Amino acid sequence: MKIVTWNINGIRTFKSGIKKILDSFDADIICAQETKVTRDLLDEKTAIVDGYNSYFSFSRGRSGYSGVVTYCKDSAAPFLAEEGLTGLLNTNEEAVGCYSDQLEFSSEELLALDNEGRAVITQHHFIGADGPQKLTVINVYCPRADPEKPERKHYKIQFYKLLQSRAEAILSSGSHVIVLGDVNTSHRPIDHCDPDDVDNFEDNPGRKWLDHFLFGSSENGDCEEEFEDVSHKSASGGKFVDTFRHFHPERTDAFTCWSTMTGARQTNYGTRIDYIFSSRFLVENIFSGVDIMPEVEGSDHCPVWARLSCTLLPSPKYPPLCTRHMPEFAGRQQKLSRFLVKVSDGRLPGSQEAGEIRENLIPVVKENNIFKKRPADREAETTGNKPKRSKQTKTESKPKGNLLSFFKPKQTIFNTATSTVNPKQAECPKHEPSTESSGCQITHARLNDETDCNTTQTRSRPSGVEEDTHVSMVMEKEIKKQDQQDKEATRVENCRKGPSSFWKEILHGPPQPPPCKSHNEPCVLRTVKKAGPNLGRQFFVCARPQGHASNPQARCNFFAWVDKGK
Ligand code: ZN
Repeated sequence: MKIVTWNINGIRTFKSGIKKILDSFDADIICAQETKVTRDLLDEKTAIVDGYNSYFSFSRGRSGYSGVVTYCKDSAAPFLAEEGLTGLLNTNEEAVGCYSDQLEFSSEELLALDNEGRAVITQHHFIGADGPQKLTVINVYCPRADPEKPERKHYKIQFYKLLQSRAEAILSSGSHVIVLGDVNTSHRPIDHCDPDDVDNFEDNPGRKWLDHFLFGSSENGDCEEEFEDVSHKSASGGKFVDTFRHFHPERTDAFTCWSTMTGARQTNYGTRIDYIFSSRFLVENIFSGVDIMPEVEGSDHCPVWARLSCTLLPSPKYPPLCTRHMPEFAGRQQKLSRFLVKVSDGRLPGSQEAGEIRENLIPVVKENNIFKKRPADREAETTGNKPKRSKQTKTESKPKGNLLSFFKPKQTIFNTATSTVNPKQAECPKHEPSTESSGCQITHARLNDETDCNTTQTRSRPSGVEEDTHVSMVMEKEIKKQDQQDKEATRVENCRKGPSSFWKEILHGPPQPPPCKSHNEPCVLRTVKKAGPNLGRQFFVCARPQGHASNPQARCNFFAWVDKGK
């Protein structure tokens, strides 16, 4: 059995052919985070992949934000599946169950913690040495604590606590448990490119939580001996193991996330914040290998895989949360009738409100609704390809070449005038990884919390608006088509609703970049996007990728405001 986790930084990472990409992992379970897909935006190509069954959790607040999905091979279909950690999102009785008392959380807090589409739980079966065993997989996208929003620090820690209590409750029920995903905290100094540059590294609440959650993690370097002798450990009572460190206790420069804005991947100036945690018995007896896949591009994170010496048994039917049961994909179910779950009184699985579901069941009244034709179909029409699955199957059934061939670096336009940098970075680029977060978390801040014309247009608009959805689909298609050939035109199109500073730049022309001091190379122009006295001001920094201060090939600390008189 092989399992993979990957923060894909937007489902578009899969647009080049989701089946080919999933197949290329040769994994039974593929957990992705930060899909940025909300239910109104989920298209059929993403939801229904031949040979797989999928389980999504969507953000219920902002559209195009957060979100996780677990794809299982049909040969590894789960017996139970559930969205969220609290149990409050359950719409059916076939949930995983095993909830802790949750007494330390208010009911509002619990709802908020499950409101952003950050967890999907699937439960699988395998035959172990002692007979049938359960394996529960918790796919999580843990919150990132935006230093600008103190309340998110609390949210992040509460999410960790909830995750731990649920994982331990499931473990106590007798199931093996794997917790995997983007945890958004690098654990040890060895997991960070520049720990000395982080104030009070060990005091970070996320790291303290990891110390508590993980077994044998109170001291530097988990080694085999420590695992075997608990009595000598002072604070090592955690029930889960960081499986990568279990197999590679000393490996340095093993990072899974890099800031795209600074090009830090080129210098491997990153952090390890994507993990596969496992309950102890599993990692000590069933796991046979774990590794990161830094060679796989397409996101600002790389995937992590683990192999287990067991074979999952497929469930004879898909659990209700499965996308194949969603009413908007019901057309496909006729061909898959053997997997149908009986649906009664209009109450259907998934995260839609009952009213929405009823609407979707009456296609006549949806004449002008986006659900009449989903974006996938619409796109297929305009490209002349029929959205028939039989054809998809035909063209996508043979994975070919190695994994790398499926991934090309995303078009990076961040090193342009519209890049987003906060003043702290602007004044002191060396200190980009803040005390709280890693370099890539700053990237997340930009992607999640600010309007950036380079990112997907679907993010900041209200959900369910037909016009916008259509515009967004057309835009996506347009961007794809033109690709690198017409970068500037694409940028103009994307930035149509962008900040006024963009138009200023267009009208006046960009200022000429000075050479940086250390490399004597032309700088890049950036704009302060953070609210504050410097908002909108432009500045030049060294164009090289971010790296360790001791690395002469990396970005130097050259900095100059464009408009000094301001
Ligand atoms: Zn330089």
